[in-house]
Amino acid sequence: MFGIWGHESAAELTYYGLHALQHRGQDGAGIAATNGSELNLHKGLALLNDVFKRAEFSKLPGHAAIGHVRYPSGGEGSVDDVQPLLFRSQAESIAICHDGNIMNANVLRGELEAQGSIFQTNADPEILAHLMRRNGQEVTEESIIAGLRKIVGAYAFLILTEDKLYAALGSRGIRPLSIGKLGDSYVVSSETCAFDIIGAKHEREVMPGELVTISAEGITSTRFAVREQRALCAMEYVYLSRPDSDLNQVNVHASRKRMGIELAKEAPVEADVVTGVPDSSISAAIGYAEASGLPYEIGIIKNRYIGRTFIQPTQELREQGVKMKLSPVRGIIEGKRVVMIDDSIVRGTTSRRIVRMLKEAGAKEVHVRIASPMITDPCYYGVDMSTKEELIAANHSLEEIKDIIEADSVAFLSADGLEQAIVQDKSINQGICNACMTGNYPVLFNDVTEKVSH
Ligand code: SF4
Repeated sequence: MFGIWGHESAAELTYYGLHALQHRGQDGAGIAATNGSELNLHKGLALLNDVFKRAEFSKLPGHAAIGHVRYPSGGEGSVDDVQPLLFRSQAESIAICHDGNIMNANVLRGELEAQGSIFQTNADPEILAHLMRRNGQEVTEESIIAGLRKIVGAYAFLILTEDKLYAALGSRGIRPLSIGKLGDSYVVSSETCAFDIIGAKHEREVMPGELVTISAEGITSTRFAVREQRALCAMEYVYLSRPDSDLNQVNVHASRKRMGIELAKEAPVEADVVTGVPDSSISAAIGYAEASGLPYEIGIIKNRYIGRTFIQPTQELREQGVKMKLSPVRGIIEGKRVVMIDDSIVRGTTSRRIVRMLKEAGAKEVHVRIASPMITDPCYYGVDMSTKEELIAANHSLEEIKDIIEADSVAFLSADGLEQAIVQDKSINQGICNACMTGNYPVLFNDVTEKVSH
């Protein structure tokens, strides 16, 4: 998500911001903008570049905008579900987008429908839109807070009205959200890398349980939930975020490098060379090589023009994608005992293909080292790992995983090692969610399975 307030080229800057966030979702993209009296929206089911051509920006005039790139963790893949969602009424219009997952969505939808709400989409933000506008009330800080207090889950929301931009983060801060400044304009983004691309300066994080309001009067902050220990998604550091982003004052590349260093301490192996699966495992591979004293080499090359395998929606596409995407560097691999660093193993199919590829390129041995713990439990907070059945580590022992992915050995970073690599300063409320690796869920809902059957 990206939002901006107070700039004459708000929609264009949102486009550039979203461009830096394209790795977070490639299923769809949208931008809503306000000129103070009217909200307009353009969105589509494609990559950002394909949804927005130059002409589109003339339809999005105004000084404020919010935008979203869609990651298919919910909804049914229709253009209606692409965010931002725009709701028009006689009193006012609102655009809304979110990152995360509302765990009590079905209960809230049922209650709202019983009271007369008619839903137009399957996207979670529509629930907050209905909660805010209940009984015909206007969107204000009070109505937003009343709506947020009904929601159980992990979320970051951006809400745009004709004259205000709101940013809200759930009480445990599971999803990332930061505020920056570009001259006199305010910007809000899921990741700080979007600030750099437009020349904005990162100011601070949106705090867990905080609602930020930005308008012609400036910026104000309201707390809608008690201050709790932050539980920022560990997978943001492991895999999802860009290495040049800072999340809760921890640089992603530096944290990945520390994961590699911890992994080398915990799981050393006799080998000739260390290589990482591009792009998200390179930082950890550098850390592993540095700590183990083994040379780091580029043993695998990525074709830059293919999307990320994990984010593509079907298994068939994922498998096809990895063949097109990665190539071994034979001159580096041939005859060597290779330590192959990967950031995580979710289903295991990608790892097997890469191990096979390295062996076909002449690797004598392939030792797989994973820079995060085994993923044993589903994520209920908006990352697409929704059932235990699909998780290789939920259903197989370490020895079985080694055989399935056809490696000579395999080892995972411990949960303690991961936490040490990420959390550097607990006094500033740094803390992680690692529920998919430990089963310790920071936000619970008594009927969680209901919402994650997709
Ligand atoms: S369960 Fe895993 S993927 Fe989901 S928010 Fe927590 S750390 Fe992230």
